[in-house]
Amino acid sequence: AKRAGGSAYAFFEAHMNAGVREQIELQRDLRLALERGELLLHYQPKVSAGREVVTGVEALVRWQHPTRGMLGPALFIPVAERFGLISAVGNWVIEEACRQIAAWQEQGLRLRVAVNLSVHQLRQDDFVRRVAATIARAGIDPRQLTFEITESVAMEDAESTLQAFEALCGIGVHLSIDDFGTGYSSLAYLRQLQVGELKIDRSFVQDLESSADARAIVEAVIRLAHALGLKVVAEGVETAAQQDVLTRLQCDDLQGYLFARPMAAERVAEWAVASRR
Ligand code: C2E
Ligand code: CA
Ligand code: CA
Ligand code: CA
Repeated sequence: AKRAGGSAYAFFEAHMNAGVREQIELQRDLRLALERGELLLHYQPKVSAGREVVTGVEALVRWQHPTRGMLGPALFIPVAERFGLISAVGNWVIEEACRQIAAWQEQGLRLRVAVNLSVHQLRQDDFVRRVAATIARAGIDPRQLTFEITESVAMEDAESTLQAFEALCGIGVHLSIDDFGTGYSSLAYLRQLQVGELKIDRSFVQDLESSADARAIVEAVIRLAHALGLKVVAEGVETAAQQDVLTRLQCDDLQGYLFARPMAAERVAEWAVASRR
């Protein structure tokens, strides 16, 4: 008979293989998805804390998989990163976001769109030139495009990040630090990065009501960020109580299910008009 340790290992290995097999299947499908146009963007509004006016939207990628249904980025972005597909996916996201900015503009809706960047994109040699070309082709104002980069990525390779950020700033796009508070960056360094905005991670927002520490951290971050001329956005706002605290702490913009879930582009225009009422 097998010993417990052996079967536990076999169990682990079987699961690991299933995981790897699934990833290989997904990466094969993802290559096709790009050709077949199965990726799409949903957009989640950000609103000003005080008056709840829409200040922009964040583009969040989805995959309408032919057999698995709608897949979220947590499932396939890591696969894209691992199998060298992230630049293809990321470039598609930027092109689609720029196209949408232009389409909304046609309809008389001027919206800022934020796009999430993976570290691999920043390392792409011709990345900034590509972005500039995409913006020019879409005929949009670069200031309508914001790139969100997670705090951990921004800190990972400080020197090359600094260069990439400088170049992006040079073409006129805005930069935002995502999931702020989860890493160890100093605000002084962020200012050097020419970042215009910080997004406070959802984990802090979640703890606002229950934890005096979380409140103290958020308050300090907002105060320091403002002193450095940065705008502060809170993500994952789900309750009116969280909104109250964040508004009292002078957070600039809020984003979360309390206001709107990510939605298809067609619904954004309706939502923006309704929220102006
Ligand atoms: P993120 O940038 O932190 O985006 C926010 C995530 O939180 C989104 O999940 C959004 O749907 C979700 N969210 C928004 N409001 C709330 C709320 O009130 N409560 C809760 N519980 N969740 C909320 P989503 O769309 O599944 O995206 C997950 C992550 O995938 C994103 O996290 C981002 O890091 C990544 N991602 C999304 N699109 C792209 C992309 O085009 N490129 C890259 N590289 N990453 C992307
Ligand atoms: Ca983000
Ligand atoms: Ca975030
Ligand atoms: Ca987050």
